[in-house]
Amino acid sequence: MSLVLREVGPRDGLQAESPVDVGERVRLIAALVAAGLSDIEAVAFVSPRAVPSMAGATEVMAAVERAPGVRYWALVPNVRGAEMAVAAEVDGLSVTVSASAAYNEKNVHISIDESVDAVDGIAKVADGALPIDAVVSCAFGSPYEGDIAVATVRSLARRLLDAGATSLTFADTTGMATPPRITALLDSVGTDVGLHLHETRGTGLVNAFAAWEAGVRRFDTSVGGLGGSPFAEGAAGNLATEQLVYLLDELGVPTGVDLARLLEVCRLAEAMVGHPLPSAVARAGPRLSG
Ligand code: MG
Repeated sequence: MSLVLREVGPRDGLQAESPVDVGERVRLIAALVAAGLSDIEAVAFVSPRAVPSMAGATEVMAAVERAPGVRYWALVPNVRGAEMAVAAEVDGLSVTVSASAAYNEKNVHISIDESVDAVDGIAKVADGALPIDAVVSCAFGSPYEGDIAVATVRSLARRLLDAGATSLTFADTTGMATPPRITALLDSVGTDVGLHLHETRGTGLVNAFAAWEAGVRRFDTSVGGLGGSPFAEGAAGNLATEQLVYLLDELGVPTGVDLARLLEVCRLAEAMVGHPLPSAVARAGPRLSG
């Protein structure tokens, strides 16, 4: 398995912010690609009324200059979103289903069964032409229900693959994972999975390290920790891309990402959202070496 860092700043990150112009979003995506990121969750095809900051996904995808070898992902919640994403010529679809029934119902207002059905419908739209990554949210615990049994998460994962998902990502939606919980899940579902980690309780990077050591090679991260600002209400706390790149650089793992350029993208993202981003490497810079 080769390393895949999927940059989610333009989607998961900006979703939590006041709306940013289409042109600025395109500029952020281009800057991330120029820094060396080759998987970008660029847009979400969701209701602009429900999520105003994700309006204009078609326009963003039309304006992005496609770089060779780069996959531009879209989050889609349903068949309608998948149809729009296919029309916009995205390279992959991600769809979120929560392992917590209460979380699913509060956030997308449908049951887990209905969400699994949505994956089935999305898979029919993709018709084998696009990868479909099912993101299992609350995989390490629910803010409403507490611990979610590993067996429950595993059984949902199986159903999502049966419904047509081509890969799985497990998300620590509200920062409840710790290294023992990471390894417990991986022992059950295997390591050919992605992880979407959050720094809500400061464990994002140590969880990523535990997963790396266990053999996981796919991670969702967000430039600057965008979407995880302590200055924003309802901070999600995405693991910052440069935190993981810095760690992997130190481990001697080739990432293809230029850390110095990535830190410039942090500055760009801060200017776009109008407040500092929380990542420690973005604040302190890389260590002096040599
Ligand atoms: Mg997130």
